[in-house]
Amino acid sequence: MTDFSSQTTPPPASSGWMGHPRPLARLFSTEAMERFGYYGMRALLTLYLAQHFLFSDTTTTGLYGGFTAMVYLTPLIGGLMADRFLGAKRSVKFGAIVMALGYAVLCLSSLGAPARPYAMIEGQRYDVTLATGNRASGGAMAEAKGQYVTDHGQALRIRGNDDKSVSLLRADGSVARRIAPGGFSAGGERSALYTFLLIAGLALVTLGNGHFKPNISTIVGGLYAQGDRRRDAGFTIFYMGINLGSFFSQVLCPLLAVGMGSWSGLGWWAGFALAAAGMVVSWLLFQFDGGMLDGHGERPQHANGGRDWLIYIGTFLAIPLVYLLFTGLADYVKPPESSGLIGYLASLPILGKLMFGTFLVAVPGILVWSWRNGSLREFRMMLAAMVLITFNTVFWTLFEQAGSSLTLFADRNTDMSVFGLFSISAGQTQFFNALFIILLAPLFSLLWNGLSRSGREPTIPVKFGVALVGVGAGFLFLVWGTRYASADFKVGLWWLAGLYLIHSMAELCISPVGLSMITKLSIARIVGLMMGVWFLSISVAQYVAGVVAQFASVETVGGEVTNPRLSLETYVGVFTHIGWAAVVIGAVLLALAKPLKRLMHGVM
Ligand code: GLN
Repeated sequence: MTDFSSQTTPPPASSGWMGHPRPLARLFSTEAMERFGYYGMRALLTLYLAQHFLFSDTTTTGLYGGFTAMVYLTPLIGGLMADRFLGAKRSVKFGAIVMALGYAVLCLSSLGAPARPYAMIEGQRYDVTLATGNRASGGAMAEAKGQYVTDHGQALRIRGNDDKSVSLLRADGSVARRIAPGGFSAGGERSALYTFLLIAGLALVTLGNGHFKPNISTIVGGLYAQGDRRRDAGFTIFYMGINLGSFFSQVLCPLLAVGMGSWSGLGWWAGFALAAAGMVVSWLLFQFDGGMLDGHGERPQHANGGRDWLIYIGTFLAIPLVYLLFTGLADYVKPPESSGLIGYLASLPILGKLMFGTFLVAVPGILVWSWRNGSLREFRMMLAAMVLITFNTVFWTLFEQAGSSLTLFADRNTDMSVFGLFSISAGQTQFFNALFIILLAPLFSLLWNGLSRSGREPTIPVKFGVALVGVGAGFLFLVWGTRYASADFKVGLWWLAGLYLIHSMAELCISPVGLSMITKLSIARIVGLMMGVWFLSISVAQYVAGVVAQFASVETVGGEVTNPRLSLETYVGVFTHIGWAAVVIGAVLLALAKPLKRLMHGVM
């Protein structure tokens, strides 16, 4: 697993890059391009599931949550394989190829026709036709944007009512039929082959990421000797690379996928193809490093390469396993029937059980081990780390709404116009986060340095507490903005940008801080394992984030909502709840900051 402590002798200072070891430059560009692929794909995924495959909101967000949870779970195994057998460098190269394949398969999955929308009305099935509202002429359907069913040769528009009943409207707006709540449902008829390719592509991405993501960070950590003060700054530069890559792809991939209009011949395939191309560039940069990475992330001394192929083949053989875990997620809707934690866990799909189970075993298990094998001081530091890791799940649960519920919110209830000059698409709103990180990361570095010079730098628990309050406050800010929604229930884009600004500041208080905290608080022998537990806590959060987003599900037909007012109300309800919950939990952490600090024995 990720062992930041040391594996290599730092190179001579003369071969530097921005005052850092020269290989950092290549790791920076490789990671920037890998994240270009990942975040480009992420900017497409939710809308692709909802609007191309026509999955319900519940399935879309559940699948998205399960997928991202796997993305953060596989590093546990990928890190272990690198530590014991492959060495970080081989793992990164292999992971890059697998991820590129994943994006390519996702690209293939989009080549079929979009799913065909239908509606079930009181037990009878009707085909649904979508009108985009900007067709030039011809027939009732051209008149208004919306979803239509045809009944006795007449096109009737579907309108969701505020009481959750559904009305079918004639062209003149009169009600032809009203269906009581529960009598109406919608779906999509999709090709089994392309759905298979979708899930297989996602499975490849999770498996490739497991080999790539933890191990490239390991190599960064290995550039610095124990106690080298440039380490934190090195990680900040690396974090900038991550967001630089994300920024460009979050603008470009949605542009190719949905932003160019049908005249261009582009579409979802082009967005995924660009993600795949970025990933190939990442692989090329790393594979052909001109010797720059020689001696970094090499195979551990005790291992020989004779069995590498087992790991490579094993990765591909794991595809059906991941596939099954994903399909087990389909339409996990209802809150559990039996009460209590045990009942909740028992009612989860198998992926959920795996996720929570691993976390609930790992955290106390490692603490018991530390109690037995470490000094009292080491145990106390590990205890502090575990408490903070647990709070970390709350942060990412809210933060990761970005890819799912917040993107759907942008699509449905946000006015995407930029100063009236042009509009951006919903997937592109994800770029705000990357942009703000690029702008703010250097400022935060200066801030922490400045504060530490005057002895006022906040402790790690305080930074975590502020991050939790911040991530909650971001949602409450957006909820405040919804009071000023337009008559068609849309909020100005700047409210969403404001949320991302607040979230990005919060992220800088927790994400880079957390990575370096692990390397400082952990018992040295198990720092890699602890890094795995850090990623595991993010994995649990991704899963819970999917469940939260499922609570924000709204009725759609053909991938579009049937009642924007209900949709806005639903988002406001969920965002208010999670916003306040995070503020309260953050306040609890701030109250615990002093005792936690005592456990940390001076680690800052
Ligand atoms: N945006 C960062 C990355 O992609 C952090 C994500 C995370 O750790 N959850 O690496």
